[in-house]
Amino acid sequence: MRSTMQNVPLLTSRIIDYAGDVYPGSEVVTWGADGPRRSSFTDVAKDCRRLANALRTLGIDGDQRVGSFMWNNEEHLELYLGVPAAGAVLHTINIRLFPQQMVYVVNHAEDKVIFVDNSLAQPFSALLEHTPTVEHVVVNGPVPDEVKQALAGGGKRQVHDYRQLLDAQPDTFAWPEVDENDGTLMCYTSGTTGHPKGVVYSHRSNLLHATFCAGANGLGLTQSARALAIVPLFHANAWGLAYAAMMAGSSLIMPDRFLQPEPLARMIESEKVTCGGAVPTLMTGLLEYLDGHPETDVSSLDRVIIGGSACPPALMHAFHDRYDVTVLHGWGMTETSPLGTVAIAPVGVEGEEYWNYRHSQGRLALHVEARLVGPDGAVQPWDGEAVGEIEVRGPWVTGSYYRDDDAASAEKFDEGWLRTGDVGSLTADGYLTISDRAKDVIKSGGEWISSIDLENELMAHPGVREASVVGVPDEKWGERPLAIVVPVEGQTPAVEDLRSFLQDRVARWQVPERWAFVTEVPKTSVGKFDKKTLRARYAEGSLS
Ligand code: ADP
Repeated sequence: MRSTMQNVPLLTSRIIDYAGDVYPGSEVVTWGADGPRRSSFTDVAKDCRRLANALRTLGIDGDQRVGSFMWNNEEHLELYLGVPAAGAVLHTINIRLFPQQMVYVVNHAEDKVIFVDNSLAQPFSALLEHTPTVEHVVVNGPVPDEVKQALAGGGKRQVHDYRQLLDAQPDTFAWPEVDENDGTLMCYTSGTTGHPKGVVYSHRSNLLHATFCAGANGLGLTQSARALAIVPLFHANAWGLAYAAMMAGSSLIMPDRFLQPEPLARMIESEKVTCGGAVPTLMTGLLEYLDGHPETDVSSLDRVIIGGSACPPALMHAFHDRYDVTVLHGWGMTETSPLGTVAIAPVGVEGEEYWNYRHSQGRLALHVEARLVGPDGAVQPWDGEAVGEIEVRGPWVTGSYYRDDDAASAEKFDEGWLRTGDVGSLTADGYLTISDRAKDVIKSGGEWISSIDLENELMAHPGVREASVVGVPDEKWGERPLAIVVPVEGQTPAVEDLRSFLQDRVARWQVPERWAFVTEVPKTSVGKFDKKTLRARYAEGSLS
């Protein structure tokens, strides 16, 4: 029997109309050098409709790609909402990619219009020489004439001002009734090998994902929440935060380019931020700042989702013990929209058991099915012990890459499942623990060492600020771990001290013999430890 339900497509335009109508009291706050700028959800919705009209004047009348090269601010959010609602696809470009990668992704996506923040316009103009598909550049904020000229490239492109462009348009627009499976947003993975690969989300996937993110098993967003969007819109969809907040009526605090610990702490204090999302390295910096500035009042902050790489338990406990902040550990990837798991502990568990759940990568989301596949291809049990590669599938998991002619990509998919490249285990009640990325596992004498375990244990040492562990070639064992340590400022932990600290916490044979002390671990474009660079740098072995 067919249902009697109406078959109304799930479209992102609904978020704009709904948020603008029913949450006039919620706001988007953008941090600026001259203080915060505020707009109500109703104003943002009106701007989205003006933007849709403006896109039509720029020749965007179908599923053409519109690029954004921007920080997290109100205008970027308007693009995030308005471009897909108008039927086009927003390609959020990672502003920290290498120039040749940026050129590659713009050409690959065939961006026709690109929106750029004025603070980024000058470096960006140099790339445009190599991106022939771009016909219009829209600048957010004033720029000097010479920058405008550079963006125009001798008349090859038209240059517009964001505010002027929108102000010339009416604030009404009839959203097109597109197919709910049509593309909305696209993000490129940073691609550890080969070119970056494009993932295209759909109206349907975005709405289902955002509904999960907003709910109590995700970020638990409500109309009284004030969410600080530290994670960039270009990093895997800002983890769903933007759509989820608009759906739930949670005000959004957008830090723009002020991502340093001091302004972030001020935003939390003055905007009474209640929740947010960030990678561990950024939260480590924030924690240090707060510890050094006890006068900062962050009592409004209730929960922060940390993901992108493993959250060290020490960081979680520091926020819990010193600031009463719940760190929700989340796992996901660009290919999974990204949220696959969130570590909310089951009801009724206490003490160590409770923390084991919280330290894990978390409980699978309803729409993310998972299986563990062992090295021999056999599916492993969910018993918290068996280890394998995590494969996932679901309505917000990608089934392919955009215009991909890389033969190696076929290996990313296994009978309809996405091979995540992450190795770990699952408990009987669906909690995932990642021990490593397959390519980061250290294979020592036939045994596997988890680089994440060693890093987590090292970062629990009071003298260690950051620690990254990579495998380096070893004549006897094939590979051995090398620990790269950033000491806490003013401290010089000794190798012997660190080794004996580890000996109490991991199997003795796993304790690294090779150590390097540095002032900073190199990071990827989304703020993760850059293990590829570290492996290359230390391929010859240790420093001490
Ligand atoms: P990139 O591959 O460029 O880093 P993604 O942000 O999509 O881009 O990375 C996804 C990967 O990040 C996952 O496959 C996993 O290896 C890692 N990751 C994400 N969240 C976590 C987490 N909570 N714990 C451990 N690893 C994580």
